Parts: sequence; structure tokens; C-alpha cells
Amino acid sequence: MTIGVVGAGQLGAMLALAGYPLGFDFLFLDRTERTPAGRLAPMLTGDFADPGVLRQLAERSEVISFDWENISVDALRAATRATRVRIAPPLKALAAAQDRLAEKRTFERLGIPTTRFAAVDSPAALARAVRRIGLPGVLKTRRLGYDGKGQFVLRASADAALAWERLGGVPLLYEEFVPFDYEVSIIGARGRGGETVIYPLNRNYHVDGILRLTLAPWTAPRLWRTASTSLKRVLEAFHYVGVLAIEFFVRKGRLIANEMAPRVHNSGHWTIEGALTSQFENHVRAITGMPLGAARPLGFAAMINLIGDMPARETLLAEAGLHLHDYGKEPRPGRKLGHCTLVETSAERRNLRAKSLLRRLCPHLDVKP
Ligand code: AMP
Repeated sequence: MTIGVVGAGQLGAMLALAGYPLGFDFLFLDRTERTPAGRLAPMLTGDFADPGVLRQLAERSEVISFDWENISVDALRAATRATRVRIAPPLKALAAAQDRLAEKRTFERLGIPTTRFAAVDSPAALARAVRRIGLPGVLKTRRLGYDGKGQFVLRASADAALAWERLGGVPLLYEEFVPFDYEVSIIGARGRGGETVIYPLNRNYHVDGILRLTLAPWTAPRLWRTASTSLKRVLEAFHYVGVLAIEFFVRKGRLIANEMAPRVHNSGHWTIEGALTSQFENHVRAITGMPLGAARPLGFAAMINLIGDMPARETLLAEAGLHLHDYGKEPRPGRKLGHCTLVETSAERRNLRAKSLLRRLCPHLDVKP
């Protein structure tokens, strides 16, 4: 069976690495061949909205998935209409996750606490939103935002003009700034028959809006129960098939949903070595209609993203038990080039090793596990 994947980044590459041992083949679509998944699997090249190339992908695959959210739902729907290919996760979930307004409304509808928000499409609407929601607040583009891109923090009413100048002209969302204590995410999978598995909670540390470190399992049983209830509500609401992630702020012991990702998620990379079945394998199992694998952790994992420039391979591989994933990408500031994972026997040992590794790999960064 061939799995077609729109987007051939590192998430796609890790899907292929998980799916080949199970006997599946892969075909990727991306704008160029020089991609992380292009090192592993055959590729089609073209624009993500190109009907011809999407049609080819549909004709050569039994199921289509995606490793990147910013693709055209309409083009994919149109290109696959006359074919027998299945699409998973469902396009309705993808459409909701692509638009921050639809995403917030989904959370609200399902009774999942989220930040207060208002749609903004003019300077006057921004002034109204700031008055209603208050300051500080974050103005975000509704679409095409990721890793903190397309965001502006307003601390005073006078910032509104500059915020509009930077982001205005496309649909926007203004939301309250949450002075959170920390950030967590939950990841789970739903199979075609409706069965679900949920991974332990991830504690996430961002720098400049980009995930830098994940510690998992993060032992907080009450938060895990609440987060997994929210995740299951979203999975059920969309008759979801595949892996889904939700990111939350934690403030005074309460969860506030920030966003969801209808795909495998960076905060779940630790599951490759740290869980009985990785998120990538469970995504492949779910979309191909196979039984899901257990999400049980095998220890206490720390996952560090390697961003902007790659530390020397010798340094990383000299670290006992460290698992390196080099995505083979050209270095560029702010670009995710790889990640590494440690799995330890206790949370204390894991935290100490993560701290020491971070100090050596990126001494200038303010990340304190
Ligand atoms: P996002 O692209 O929405 O996930 O935002 C990236 C990061 O920016 C988040 O992980 C937070 O660290 C920060 N951030 C986003 N929205 C807010 C908010 N409303 N309040 C505080 N921090 C935020």
C-alpha cells in the first residue's frame, strides 16, 4: 500500500522511517526534491495547490496524509474527488486548524477553555478588540502562522498602529496574552474504527516562539486527564483518523488551549525512542486502518531541537544514550535542522542531563528545565 504525503519535511521523513518496517511504501509531494523526506522516498514536485500534481499523488496512493498544515484544502478536495483515495486526517480538521478563528471556535464549541479572542480585519476592529479583551494581547495572522511567525505582542494601546502596519491586510485575530506558568501538549491517535490511544503529557519550552525542549512524560495526572478529555472531544467531533496534538498554556493549575495540529507534532518526537509505539507509527497505523499501538512510555525522555546550526556530530554522538536525528537540511537562522532525544530511568536524571546538554549545546539560551 502506498501512502501519499503532501509535504516532505522532517515529519514526513519520520513517517516514512516508521512506515517502511510495517511494509508500506511512500510517495511525497513538495515544491523541491531537496527535502528531508526526499532523501528516503520517491517524490512528486510541484505546488501544493497544483491540481495536476495532486491528482497524480491521488492516483498513485491508497491514502493521502500531510506533514504540513499550510496546504490548500480546496485543491486537495477537488483533485481527489473523482478518485478512490482516502484522506486522513479529515480535511474538516485540517481546515479548522488552518484558521485560528475556526480553531478557537472549535475549542469553544467543545467546551475546551481557550484564550479570549476577537477577529480583526481593520484598525478600528483592532482598537475595539483591544478595548474589549485588554492589554497585553497578541495579534496573530489567522492563517499561515507557525513557530511564532505572524505574531505581534501589544503592551499598550499605542502599539496598535505598529501591529497593524506589520500584520494588517490579511485576516487577523487578537487574543489575550496569557502570563502562563508553563506550556504543555497532549498527543493522541484515533483509528478508523474509533479506538484511541493517548500519550503522556509533554512539557514544552519555547524560545522566540520555537519549541526548544520537551520533557515527557511530564507527571501531572490531573492535567493529563483534563488534556486527554479535550483531545478526545476533538478526535470525536471530527471523526478523526490519525495523530492529533493540542498545545496548552498552564496557568494556576488550569489548562488554556492555544492551538491544535492535525498531524504528528514536534513535541512528540521523543516517542520514537521513548514510547512503546511512536507517534509516527501510530499515525501510519491509524490512516491505513491497522490496529493502534500502545502509547506507554519506556522511561523519562528529553527531546532537544537543534535549531539554526548543527552541533558537531562527534559531540552529540559522544553523549551516552543520545539518539540523533539530523534532517539533512541547509543551516539557516531559526530553522529546525534536527533533534536529539535521551531516555532516562527517572525524571530527576532526565532533567539533570537535559540541563547539562542544553548548557553545552546552546549556552546563550534561557531554557531552564
Ligand atoms: P503559537 O504559534 O500560537 O503556538 O505561538 C507560539 C508561542 O508564542 C507559544 O508557544 C507561546 O509561547 C507564545 N504565545 C502565543 N500566544 C500567546 C498568548 N496568547 N499569550 C502568551 N504567549 C503566547
